[in-house]
Amino acid sequence: MRIAEMKTGTTIIDGKAFAAEMRGRVAEQVSRLKTEHGITPGLAVVLVGEDPASQVYVRSKGKQTAEAGMASFEHKLDADTTEAALLDLLGRLNADPSVHGILVQLPLPRHLDSARIINAIDPAKDVDGFHISNAGLLATGQKAMVPCTPLGCLMLLKAHLGNLSGLQAVVIGRSNIVGKPMAQLLLGDSCTVTIAHSRTRDLEDIVRRADIVVAAVGRPGMVQGSWIRPGATVIDVGINRVEGQDGKSRLVGDVDFPGAAETAGAITPVPGGVGPMTIACLLANTLTATCRANGLDEPEGLTA
Ligand code: NDP
Repeated sequence: MRIAEMKTGTTIIDGKAFAAEMRGRVAEQVSRLKTEHGITPGLAVVLVGEDPASQVYVRSKGKQTAEAGMASFEHKLDADTTEAALLDLLGRLNADPSVHGILVQLPLPRHLDSARIINAIDPAKDVDGFHISNAGLLATGQKAMVPCTPLGCLMLLKAHLGNLSGLQAVVIGRSNIVGKPMAQLLLGDSCTVTIAHSRTRDLEDIVRRADIVVAAVGRPGMVQGSWIRPGATVIDVGINRVEGQDGKSRLVGDVDFPGAAETAGAITPVPGGVGPMTIACLLANTLTATCRANGLDEPEGLTA
């Protein structure tokens, strides 16, 4: 992995470079699938409504899917699309053999029941790993489609630390898309895991004991530098837009980066840390789903 050293000796984990390498490995495997088996992995992305952030994500996913040599199918539906119409589309995508992965961009408009929609995706094509079957498989230590952001965090951790067995980890945040699956993955790699949330008491003490800190809260700079144990590895999932002193907006994480970088052994920056890993893992999951659907060996190092 490409990493940079700070003056303090802290490693800045370069998620952007790691993600680029990973996308390159996916593209190689896609090319091999095409030439050796005549199979082109296909990813369908469904966007309902016109949420600006979702539009940016969907565009970026489509672009990177095509760059990896995969087929990209975009379905843009009006904000007032009915649940029945969306379920009908998912039924067709589930049945379409050229579609190996299906992603419904969240959040959905409020009149749609997200859980019902996500659970209507064929679990084998659920490349976001949000289907209840995949959550259950992950929780019981079985082969699952693993949610992309926590998978990306795990890959960065393993690339930096190697074996995670026996390490104390704290995951701050218990959402179904980041916190809970992250904790399951760390447990699967034999960490001793604490899950913290808004009702947690003495968060500072818990963080101070941790070898690994994963922050997935959505509160700018909430985890203070002084909480970090010397040498700990800090993975900052948060993406928060804040206004700087110059009046310009910029992205920051959930961790006070300058403070934490003084004591941490390694830390991911925001932007350029976890963020780029999410789409790289989405492509990896689509490749994995394609291999599984065709009874082919899964490429090494692209899943948990
Ligand atoms: P959610 O809002 O769903 O969950 C936030 C979690 O933080 C909740 O479990 C909440 O606790 C907990 N929390 C809130 N306040 C505190 C507090 N003071 N102390 C401790 N815990 C607290 O967010 P997500 O999990 O969806 O996302 C988290 C962050 O990660 C966001 O900034 C998001 O933008 C970012 N993100 C980044 C991605 C990427 O690609 N890099 C992908 C997905 C998310 P409780 O459950 O008690 O309310």
